[in-house]
Order: sequence, then structure tokens, then C-alpha cells
Amino acid sequence: MSVVLPDRPGDQVSYHLRAGDQHIPLNSRVGKPISLHWSGAIACTHCGRATKKSFAQGHCYPCFKRLAQCDTCIMKPETCHFFQGTCREPEWGETHCFQPHIVYLANSSGLKVGITRKTQMPTRWMDQGAIQALPILEVDTRQQSGFVEVLFKEQVSDRTNWRAMLKGEVETLDLIAERDRLLETLDGGLNQLRDQHGSDAIRVLDETPYTFDYPVETFPRKVVTHNFDKQPLVEGVLQGIKGQYLILDSGVINLRKFTGYEITLR
Ligand SMILES: [Zn+2]
Repeated sequence: MSVVLPDRPGDQVSYHLRAGDQHIPLNSRVGKPISLHWSGAIACTHCGRATKKSFAQGHCYPCFKRLAQCDTCIMKPETCHFFQGTCREPEWGETHCFQPHIVYLANSSGLKVGITRKTQMPTRWMDQGAIQALPILEVDTRQQSGFVEVLFKEQVSDRTNWRAMLKGEVETLDLIAERDRLLETLDGGLNQLRDQHGSDAIRVLDETPYTFDYPVETFPRKVVTHNFDKQPLVEGVLQGIKGQYLILDSGVINLRKFTGYEITLR
């Protein structure tokens, strides 16, 4: 499912479902019955090969074992393998990890810290169902962003409580005030990192918070999940879309989890 920020601020995030080479707009389906049927086929999103099981969100097993983007350092950038000489694909690392990364604060189910490649903003936040986000620091490499995130995790969670996110039980936060408080609290640690990586390695940003509005008519009171692996047919009235989840009156489904699954939408 692809997600697009509206052209005009204040408009809703816009969702499309990729089916073959078609992009089906989803926002207009909210409030209406919808059915998704999985044929049983899964195609690796990297090589296209048929695979019985999906690894790391849509990869076949060989790709999962071979690609740098499926390595553990993607989840834990501070453990970057490039510097140990064991990057699975050093060329991929050079183009993806050695470029500006952003450390951000977001509000998906409360305050959280995260990192992203600069080019992935603001998609990253909409994927998480964040209602607010604020880029706070810029660094030169993915590994550096990992070190900074580890520092921030002393003070802030890096997780989203997706059930709370889907229930819409999220209060608006003053992200500027949170940023200022954290930068002050963590000043010593940030300076230590600057000593190690260069005095201009970690740059403080002065940005305005982003806000996101999702096409949700009714938030679920209880979150029940659908799973194509257990039940290939998912039906119900589409009540909304938030993050990577379709919210149906019969339950929610995380489409990210089923990347590569061949789905027919009706
Ligand atoms: Zn593959």
C-alpha cells in the first residue's frame, strides 16, 4: 500500500493499493464494503520469484539472506556491518547508508524517537500512523543516526503501540517543547558523540512540526487482527486507513506484513 501526503496542508493522507501495475485509490472506499482475497501466491518484492513464505516483509529466503537491506543492522544501525568489513553489499551500503539521515520525534501512540533516510521523509511517519512528526537532528550516515537514537532511547521510546495508534487514543503533543527538553537533557551525550565523529557530525535542525490527518470514519474500540495466512478472505466495511492498516468493521489488517502477497480487491 502506498501513501501520499496531500498537496494542501490539512487534507487527508491519501492511500493507494498496488495490484500488478495498477494503483487503486483507497480513500474513496472508506465507509463502503470491501473484500480482499489472497490467491495463495507470494512474489518476492526484490527478485520476483515465487516464494512459499515471506521473509522481512516480502522477500524470498535467498534474498532475505543475501541483501544488505534485510540484515540486522537495518533495525539496529549502530551495529552497521560496513565498518566491520562484513557488509553484505558494500555498494548498496555506500548509496543507502552513507547519506544524510534524520533523527526525528513523532507522535504515533505518544512520543517516540526514530531515524530515517532524509529522502524517506515524510512517508516514514505516515507508515507509522503518526499524527505529528518533527525532524530534530541531521547526521551524515545511518550508523551515526543509530548512535544518536541509542542515546535518545534513554529518555524516549522508539516503539509505537499500534493498538493505541489504531484506536485513535493519541493526544496532541508540543513536539518543539519535547525537542528542546531532550536536547538539553542529552546535551552531554550528544557532545560526546560529536567528539567521536566530528564537531559538525550532528546538526540541530530548526523545523516546523508536520501534522497528518488520516481517512478514518470510525476508530475500533477493540482491535482484532486479520491474517491472510490463516484466512485468505478478508471482508467487511472499510472504516478507515491509518499507518499501514486497513480498519474494517470485522478487524484490522496490516498490509505491510503481507507485502508481495497476490491480493484481489473488490
Ligand atoms: Zn527474492
